[in-house]
Amino acid sequence: EKLGVCLVGLGNYSTTILAPALQLTEHCQLTGIVTGSPEKVPVWQERYDIPDKNVYNYQNMDGIADNPDIDVIYIVLPTGLHAEYAIKAANTGKHVWCEKPMAKTASECQSIMDACAKNKVKLSIGYRMQHEPNTQQLIQWAKTKPFGNIEKVKAEVGFNIVNPPNNWRMDAELGGGLLYDVGVYVINAMRYTTGLEPISVNGHHENTRPEVYKEVPETSIFEIDFPSGIKAKGKTTAAQSINILRIDCEKGWYELQPFQSYRGVKGKASNGTLLDTYIENQQAKQMDDDALAILNNTNVLVPGEDGMKDIIIVEAINESAKTGRTVKLS
Ligand code: NAD
Repeated sequence: EKLGVCLVGLGNYSTTILAPALQLTEHCQLTGIVTGSPEKVPVWQERYDIPDKNVYNYQNMDGIADNPDIDVIYIVLPTGLHAEYAIKAANTGKHVWCEKPMAKTASECQSIMDACAKNKVKLSIGYRMQHEPNTQQLIQWAKTKPFGNIEKVKAEVGFNIVNPPNNWRMDAELGGGLLYDVGVYVINAMRYTTGLEPISVNGHHENTRPEVYKEVPETSIFEIDFPSGIKAKGKTTAAQSINILRIDCEKGWYELQPFQSYRGVKGKASNGTLLDTYIENQQAKQMDDDALAILNNTNVLVPGEDGMKDIIIVEAINESAKTGRTVKLS
């Protein structure tokens, strides 16, 4: 059985990654689109054989409620628009998949979860790494502790961005910069590799190009304290190419490098164990996992709560950067 998926927002990620990945899934089928760009419609209709009755815009997407071809609405819009459209999606009575970062604020995240609960639909956040097998090994090791207790976590993602995009990612309201865009991978990794929730956050921003990074930070550096004395250090930056997740334990260590790329996630442990399981397409696996949770009525792997916890921490990092103080989390 296949679920009909409707993509909302036909930007880069939908066009180059999700739509092709949907063709590789076992349990999903791209049946609908929501777009504000009429010129994209014929291209998508022809490429993916989408009938007129399954094409919507942002004004009429409520009509999806009556469309039996669509089971899931996948929000792939700028972060600042996730809440508005994920809530609209939930109100159609269809299941909701929402890209990361879940939303701009924790209260927006809560309203997405409330709308999904009220409409009794499932909500999954598009954290593809949690569906990736090498990452899943690290999540397992948080429980089995093959190298003893975890002492330190380091997670850093950066790109050497010479010409930053002139788009929503650089906008404080719609995007929030790299701390949102890739910071949620860093924070999510700290949480899934420890299996714990943080106690306190301390962070600051650095900016070597204030004329370019006017609204959003160029670099964010943060330390997060977890229970049992575990110290996590994180970084997101537009000034340096970096992509590492390293866990130091009492009796050894393990790391993935890169840990959040679309392909080639790999790493090793101090005892020589290689972390190099290959999968053809992360997003196809993510969407099949999420489809099976709907078809079998089981828990989704990445629920709204998980997405919201990361946004609480992003907000705490920004607060700490502003006040210069450590922010305690309850
Ligand atoms: P993009 O800029 O390429 O596409 C955004 C789309 O939203 C465009 O089609 C644009 O027309 C549309 N849009 C509608 N209203 C808009 C408005 N008011 N302002 C700007 N654009 C508007 O962005 P993208 O890279 O496709 O990212 C979309 C979402 O997907 C984001 O939430 C992003 O974080 C997420 N994403 C996730 C991954 C991943 O690996 N999981 C990778 C890339 C992007």
